[in-house]
Amino acid sequence: MSKYETILSQLKDVAANPKKAMDDYKAETGKGAIGILPLYAPEELVHATGYLPMGIWGGQKTITKARTYLPAFACSIMQQVMELQCEGAYDELAAVLISVPCDTLKCLSQKWKGTSPVIVFTHPQNRGLEAANKFLVEEYKIVKRKLEEIVGEPITNAAIEASIKVYNENRAVMREFVKVAADYPQIIDPVARHAVFKSRMFMEKSKHTALVKELIEEIKAMPVEPWTGKKVVVTGILVEPNELLDIFKENGIAIVADDLAQESRQIRIDVLDGEEAPLYRLAKVWQRMYGCSVATDTKKYRGKMLLDMVEQTGADAIVVAMMKFCDPEEWDYPVMYRQFEEKGVKNIMIEVDQEATAFEQVRTRLQSFVEMM
Ligand code: SF4
Repeated sequence: MSKYETILSQLKDVAANPKKAMDDYKAETGKGAIGILPLYAPEELVHATGYLPMGIWGGQKTITKARTYLPAFACSIMQQVMELQCEGAYDELAAVLISVPCDTLKCLSQKWKGTSPVIVFTHPQNRGLEAANKFLVEEYKIVKRKLEEIVGEPITNAAIEASIKVYNENRAVMREFVKVAADYPQIIDPVARHAVFKSRMFMEKSKHTALVKELIEEIKAMPVEPWTGKKVVVTGILVEPNELLDIFKENGIAIVADDLAQESRQIRIDVLDGEEAPLYRLAKVWQRMYGCSVATDTKKYRGKMLLDMVEQTGADAIVVAMMKFCDPEEWDYPVMYRQFEEKGVKNIMIEVDQEATAFEQVRTRLQSFVEMM
């Protein structure tokens, strides 16, 4: 196995075994893990406690218990999270952070069935106002105080500043990875690309950064080969499980950029340097967020952002991966669709249902889409 294959296999293992990643971290540091629900949280505060921030983005379970607590039309990802809660999957977490930018998350935050304490906070939607930043700082102060109570230690400004550096570096390295993956689709197929992103949710970020840096170096040492398949930009909440990503690969489709909430939206915005207190700069990230269905944008910039991505990467089309019953994504779709059509950019919508075990409909749709292109 070459070095880049070894690194990829390490990252794939972490992505596939979050429980092991958490147990290894506990054994190594003596500290536990804190869950982070989608979409955004000031993870740097959790990192500053020395606990491991663990992303919680659902799974692939048959739903049997969740519908007792959530309506059948709640999004697929939160049905999974509820099912896993009911099974006690998150009970080893020292706490769970829940932001509530959509109705489903508001509902879920009030019905948490796990035993871990939950810390719920609100992202203000009138994001342009300075008052919104100040409000979010107050929310983050509450998050910080509750985290301190749970871990039994104060979180110092120095620790938060150090964590901000670690996260900014990780985001920068991941943005570079996205470009490298687009140049080397023969090496970084959709499953591998996803594993590099997903593993960052279960690893201490400086360790993840070091591995991805090595991976980038190894890949860049190889010649860039021409890609004879199609190239797409993917947008949505997430594309899982791997069987779904395999369909892209089977049809010779390379993902050259993404706007997935689980992937590039997490690395889009850095925390700025500056004189202001770290909590204020962390809060500013929300104001500077763009192109995301849960961050109110009256100018509807997301479609244009995706069209720019197509132009920059030379992509052939846009794939909208629609999370089943996700209201915010469904509301953005008609506007984006019109913008794609006006520019003559080919696009297709596929549904992502985490409970699904068969993907024939997506297979047929992507296959015919490629043939049409
Ligand atoms: S943003 Fe969409 S996918 Fe995420 S929790 Fe809300 S409804 Fe579900």
